[in-house]
Amino acid sequence: MNEKILKKVESGRRFAPDDYLNIFSSSSYAELEPLINVIYDRQKSGHSPIKLTSTIHLTNQCHVTPKCTYCGFAAGTSENGYYTPFHKTDSEIETIAKAIELSGIPRVSCSGAHGYGGEQAVSAARIVKNTTSLELLINVGADLTRESLEKISRYNTDTICCNLETVNEQLFHKLKPGENLANRIHVCQMTDDIGLELSSGLLIGVGESHQDRLNHLQFLKRYKNLGEIPIMGFNPYPGTPMANHPPCSLLEQIKTILVVRLMYPDIRITVPTPTIGPKNVSYSLKAGATNVATVIPENYPVDVKGVGSPVCGNLSDVLTTIYNLGLSPQLNPNFPYQTQKFTDGASVQ
Ligand code: SF4
Repeated sequence: MNEKILKKVESGRRFAPDDYLNIFSSSSYAELEPLINVIYDRQKSGHSPIKLTSTIHLTNQCHVTPKCTYCGFAAGTSENGYYTPFHKTDSEIETIAKAIELSGIPRVSCSGAHGYGGEQAVSAARIVKNTTSLELLINVGADLTRESLEKISRYNTDTICCNLETVNEQLFHKLKPGENLANRIHVCQMTDDIGLELSSGLLIGVGESHQDRLNHLQFLKRYKNLGEIPIMGFNPYPGTPMANHPPCSLLEQIKTILVVRLMYPDIRITVPTPTIGPKNVSYSLKAGATNVATVIPENYPVDVKGVGSPVCGNLSDVLTTIYNLGLSPQLNPNFPYQTQKFTDGASVQ
């Protein structure tokens, strides 16, 4: 690792774009380790709890045509995904939300496919916020109107997620031929204008350059209510147009997390367990991630598959990782963690 960068990190000096590109050009984890150690020490001494977010998939029936070339979530896209169409009923959403709350996980993401003008998200917000104490993130991409956003906001939803995936327009069109980047930017802007916290992330390893990632992170600076940036490494789904595209390496995901942490010192950085890979969560936390998403508790009442890859991280394993790193998970004061391995506050050292 370049000494100049390390000195800047240690002294809190501003970074130039070339510094970020320098980090992106690192070719091994060992090269990044001195920088990771500084960030990791800050994670430990900051005593900020690591957020855990579970998930409810509302529907996989997506009206976007043609489908996004990487998508294994929408009905009929990949046999490794859900494949069969579903639409969760109100009572199923309530049952899952209550199970998540009981497990101790403090936050849920309700996400789903496009074509409902945000009304699927309005129902989910009403159910989750009226029946549980969970923090709520809604992610239905660009499928939101001003009206549906305002209704969602009235239910005290905490965060709206609309991932731009990439701000390279040509690449966006290749990845999402049935969508329009301008629509996603518009939803991010509406969210910001309404005053809801915005989460907006990067899909990486899909053919973008390091400069594209940097442009994207600089683009996000315009949103005053940006509170969260998810970093999602690509994994190919069999049967999709991108089935033969190589998966995003762990190293690229770690470099991107480091750059986000340095560019946005206080932002929540999210790593979904399916995209980082459940076994790799510890690397992401050391590099500065502060929210582990798609965490599935033992009592989760229905079959669930991750978005971006079908394999999800389970609650016990994620808690073990967090405690082993000397970090603490965020607690729901009314619901201590219920897992086979832990009692609330237990140490696994
Ligand atoms: S990625 Fe989302 S918007 Fe694109 S096809 Fe899949 S479900 Fe639909």
